[in-house]
Amino acid sequence: MLGWVAAALVAVAAGWRLSRWRSWARVIAAELPGATPDSTAPDEILRGVRGLCDRLDERESELGRLAGVVEGMVEGMLVIDGEGNVVLANRRADELLDLPSGETHTGRSLAELNRDPDLLDLVRTVRQEEEWEGGQPIVQEVSVGKGGETVLRVTASRLSAREDMERWFVLVFHDISAIRQLEQMRRDFVANVSHELRTPLAAIGGYTETLLDGALDDPATARRFLETIERHSNRLGRLVDDLLTLSDLELGRTEIRASAQDGSRIVDACFETLQAKAEIAGVALENPVGTSVPRVQADPDRLEQALLNLIDNAIKYTPSGGSVRVTARLVRRSEAPEEIASSEGQPAFVEFVVADTGVGVPAPDLARLTERFYRVDKARSRELGGTGLGLAIVKHIVQAHGGSMSIESELQKGTAVRLRFPAAP
Ligand code: ATP
Ligand code: MG
Repeated sequence: MLGWVAAALVAVAAGWRLSRWRSWARVIAAELPGATPDSTAPDEILRGVRGLCDRLDERESELGRLAGVVEGMVEGMLVIDGEGNVVLANRRADELLDLPSGETHTGRSLAELNRDPDLLDLVRTVRQEEEWEGGQPIVQEVSVGKGGETVLRVTASRLSAREDMERWFVLVFHDISAIRQLEQMRRDFVANVSHELRTPLAAIGGYTETLLDGALDDPATARRFLETIERHSNRLGRLVDDLLTLSDLELGRTEIRASAQDGSRIVDACFETLQAKAEIAGVALENPVGTSVPRVQADPDRLEQALLNLIDNAIKYTPSGGSVRVTARLVRRSEAPEEIASSEGQPAFVEFVVADTGVGVPAPDLARLTERFYRVDKARSRELGGTGLGLAIVKHIVQAHGGSMSIESELQKGTAVRLRFPAAP
């Protein structure tokens, strides 16, 4: 890689000289007697000059290819000379470091073009390393951008291919922001799981201790405590079940046995399961499409699990007197988003919408609802027995089918969750 870079640099630096030589050669050729039709040409000189012109043309297209490689790299590349001025920056470096694009930056000092303190520090260190042999590159992470939101892994290597490049160095930038973000998510997840497990465990431990300390002797109190213990242990069980479901889906361990399914039968089954809960909550369940739900290509258990989650949420977050309505329709290929219409080769997809007249979700929270453990109102969700994993599970189920999910909501008006599954062929 560095060999290429060095070669590219030498080539770029020599580029303008080459083009000058070529024009000289053309002038000479034109001056030669052989260049005019009626003169008698000294053939050898003429051939020599023409050969030279051809070789220069070849060199020029080689240079063009080399420049194309440097420009097309996914890594950013910046070359700095012994004075600290930018000699070369490819397009990706312009993007990552927010440099003025095009040639305008060449010959200017990096400090003039970019104010990211981490980056300038690194360049200063590299330039001050008197004893830097050029053999060992320096690798460092720097944060750039307005909020330091882009994390770059920078490899700084000295270029020592030629004498006239003494103390030059090249910086290669890899954008590792996404990796850092994933690591943060993993840390958050572990912290969340531990916290969620600790709460019911602490309650179970506390009540058990009180019982052993004497509360057992009062049957009424003992019964109340035992019921609380049971509630917390059920919650623990649900939490672990949800975590296992999620991890199986994420690891691809859940087998999706998709076949043509009668959508209306599955919606009916969900309504049956949740009818009692809806009645207690004073929420009406409506299925206006009746039996005309189109056939969907899905794993029936997973589809039911997804719909149950959504209807359960809709009931939980709708005050008494409200309603939950489930509809389904066939969406034709022309309306279908690219990902389903083309990649799956399906003619269309079936769109289920679970809409409620409930409390709604504040706009800033909408995009985060499918994150594991994300809840708008933690206390309220916990009171309702929620773990904050439901929508994450739904999203994975839909994705495993090659479908998609979207949520719309308006505060105090209601929420509509849209699931798209491939239609049965
Ligand atoms: P569970 O893991 O038991 O499903 P949960 O219902 O709290 O717990 P999710 O289903 O993932 O978790 O939902 C995440 C959050 O999204 C909820 O806590 C709630 O704040 C919000 N939410 C989901 N559905 C609705 C809805 N229909 N109306 C209003 N808010 C909703
Ligand atoms: Mg839920």
